[in-house]
Amino acid sequence: MSNFDIIPVSIKQQLMCTLCEEFEDAIFILDSNLRYLAVNASYELMIGYKETFLIGRPLGIYAAEFLSEEEQLILKDISKNLNEHGFYELDFSMVNRYGQPIDCHVTYRKIYVEQVAYHVGMVRDMSSIIKDQKQVAHLLNYDQLTGLPNRKVFLSQTSDMLLDSYQEVVLVRLNIDRYRNLASLLGPDGVNDLIKNFVKEVEKLKLDDLRSFSHFGGDDFALLFEVKDANLVRLQLDALMQMCERPFFTNNTHATDANIYYHVSVGVSCFPTDDNEVTGLLTKAEKALQYVKQQGGDDIRWYDEAIENATAGSLELESELRTATIEGEFVPYYQPKFDLVTGAITGFEALVRWQHPTRGLLKPIHFINAIIAHKLSFDLFAQMAIQIVKQLSAWQQQGFHQHICINADAAEFSHPDFFDMVSTLLAQHKISAQQLHIEVTESSLIQRHDNVKKQLNSLRELGVRLALDDFGTGYASLSYLQEYPFDFIKIDKSFISNIDTDRTQHAIVKAILDLAIALEMQVVAEGIETEQQRDALLVMGCKNGQGYWFSKPVAANVATEMLIKQNASK
Ligand code: C2E
Ligand code: MG
Ligand code: MG
Repeated sequence: MSNFDIIPVSIKQQLMCTLCEEFEDAIFILDSNLRYLAVNASYELMIGYKETFLIGRPLGIYAAEFLSEEEQLILKDISKNLNEHGFYELDFSMVNRYGQPIDCHVTYRKIYVEQVAYHVGMVRDMSSIIKDQKQVAHLLNYDQLTGLPNRKVFLSQTSDMLLDSYQEVVLVRLNIDRYRNLASLLGPDGVNDLIKNFVKEVEKLKLDDLRSFSHFGGDDFALLFEVKDANLVRLQLDALMQMCERPFFTNNTHATDANIYYHVSVGVSCFPTDDNEVTGLLTKAEKALQYVKQQGGDDIRWYDEAIENATAGSLELESELRTATIEGEFVPYYQPKFDLVTGAITGFEALVRWQHPTRGLLKPIHFINAIIAHKLSFDLFAQMAIQIVKQLSAWQQQGFHQHICINADAAEFSHPDFFDMVSTLLAQHKISAQQLHIEVTESSLIQRHDNVKKQLNSLRELGVRLALDDFGTGYASLSYLQEYPFDFIKIDKSFISNIDTDRTQHAIVKAILDLAIALEMQVVAEGIETEQQRDALLVMGCKNGQGYWFSKPVAANVATEMLIKQNASK
């Protein structure tokens, strides 16, 4: 054995003593009656009293009658356990001399030295650990951006409520529409502001019977109501939708339209009508939410059986649409537009068709809403635009100087790359901007997508012509003419169908034609199916039109043949 292994007992005692004196945990020594005999520096610091003050005082520092009932009980417990077992430990929140509570873990041991019993206590300050634990718990249970409970907490709140409640419980799932577009428009800080502001606005509504408002992340929220009759929640949700009609103001410099509107999609399920347990309720509210999104968003849908059938195919459709955008399965068909006086082709409207691998050629009615709902409209637009510009270039080489109209949903304009994509394509293929027309439907403008006005103005400056499609079918037709820089009005086919016999239709179309003259815009009539309709329009002074009477939309090669034929007959 080497000398290094042995230290004299006295040295060891001194070392241990110094260690205890300087130890970071607080240590105190009591006599068998739990009176202070000694304390270390850490204890003095923690409790705020000097050793000289403490010596001789009871563990509770003051006489029992000055202590709270709880403190007296603890003291009794300590004494009893030390007498019976020689050991005791407890977690305890003590208050120091300055009134600060300290969360601590205390261990008591009975130790005999020379047959005398001493009680040694060791106190570990748990405040920072408990604070950390609380912080971790907060991180795990609350969304950091909004401070709202997260999905986990929401589900446990719902599950508790289902166990306890004698009332109806309504579970609401809510998404902010066009979130990805907003995020790219506003940038990360802007979109965070938007989300925080949304939460503030919802909280301001002080919705009746709301038991939980939770943030699942991103644009994803949930609300939980407990109410006598689930139908009462309809009013609350209406208030929420109305709130979204007011603009959100942003200082963000990238956002060109200063006001941004929230549009929300909402899906609702009820306990006990729709389901008895949490996951079922959540799934059903989410199915209703998906249904709304599929229909273009900005609406509320309460779960019912019909949703079940409607959503069954939707997931499959979404993945098929994604494949279609990657594989280039969307092709333009071309419907010629005619000069009603001369009968000459004046241009074409490109209408998308989906060359589906198994279902054949599909019309937009089968997929256009799903394209919008799954935020694929920009991809569709890009795919169409590339083919259209190439077609214009091919015709140009054959000596046909034509224009093609492309349809666009207003949502597409919010895409930050929209303008650059269009202008680059035109330049690459040496197509003049006047040869490209863009048709925007009234119904998509009503959603007030951000950035639309700026994009339309820039396109117009570039030379692209703009048409307001389906004129007369929306809510704000006239205000759109004032607000946006349109060159053409396309009168919806519903006003043409009986124009030769119905006096009201006749009067409406006449009024639109007069308005167009006053605004120096051109008019194109859609859906001309008979010679009589064409004649009636001609008499009224409408010079341009399209419709099945002239031609249905056709494939590119057929459109080319039409142009060749027309050229030959000149
Ligand atoms: P739209 O832009 O108003 O196009 C006119 C629609 O009416 C086309 O239907 C066309 O085939 C149809 N049509 C034309 N002439 C007649 C007629 O004489 N009688 C009748 N009954 N119908 C006629 P389609 O191709 O099914 O397109 C429907 C709608 O889908 C379009 O209405 C347009 O809003 C949208 N759409 C088409 N292609 C695209 C696209 O590439 N992108 C976007 N976002 N929407 C598109
Ligand atoms: Mg159109
Ligand atoms: Mg139309």
